[in-house]
Amino acid sequence: MTANKAIKKTAALLEHLGIVGWTVLVEDLGDRSPVTGLRLFGTRRTAAKQIVISTRYLDDDAETMRTILHETAHAVLADDHGSAFRWALAHVRKLNPQAAE
Ligand SMILES: [Zn+2]
Repeated sequence: MTANKAIKKTAALLEHLGIVGWTVLVEDLGDRSPVTGLRLFGTRRTAAKQIVISTRYLDDDAETMRTILHETAHAVLADDHGSAFRWALAHVRKLNPQAAE
C-alpha cells in the first residue's frame, strides 16, 4: 500500500466515524517499540491527535490495514487494550469487513 493510500484510508475511516481534528502521518517508527519490544506497525499520539503508520510494513497490505483499524480504534477510544478498546476495535472493523483479524 502506498503511503498516500494508507493516509487516505485512515482519514476516510476517521471521517466516517465522525472523528475530527486528527491527522494521519506515515513515518519510519523503527523496528520495535522501546517500551514493549514488540514490532511497531503504527502508533497514535493522543495529545497531538495523530495516527502514525509505519513505513516499514507498507508493502504488506493486510498488516497495514490491521494497523489502520487498530490505531483508528485508539482514536475512537484512547483506552489501552482493555475491553472498551476491544469493543471500539470491533466497531471499526465492521466498517471494513475485508480486513482480516
Ligand atoms: Zn494499541
